[in-house]
Amino acid sequence: MKKPPSWLSSVIQTKCARCRTGPMFAPVQKLSDWFTMHDYCPNCNVHLYIEPGFYWGAMYVSYAISSALVFILFFLAYFGFGWSLTGSFAFLTIVVVFLSPYIYRLSRSFWFAAFKKYDPSILKKE
Ligand SMILES: [Zn+2]
Repeated sequence: MKKPPSWLSSVIQTKCARCRTGPMFAPVQKLSDWFTMHDYCPNCNVHLYIEPGFYWGAMYVSYAISSALVFILFFLAYFGFGWSLTGSFAFLTIVVVFLSPYIYRLSRSFWFAAFKKYDPSILKKE
């Protein structure tokens, strides 16, 4: 029997937490697609919006991820590479702006996975 994907890999790949194979988000063809989330998992058909306002909590996850990223990158750029303060902040701004769509997806994926349990019986139905 094929080993199911781990919790962490399904979160990083923004897969549904219940089946760990269905994508939570639409494929990216244009910039606005980064923020388009499926209502139901295309694989197991679980409702991805558990309740109204469910993803408000993902905002805190997004904040934590962004803060950790900025903290680490700042220390790396400023102390590690010896860049100037202005150069380090410019670097951080560019990195965070370009990663923000993925951080948005990652935080929602993490939030959903924190509340929805993996169901291995879903895989057997395929
Ligand atoms: Zn699913």
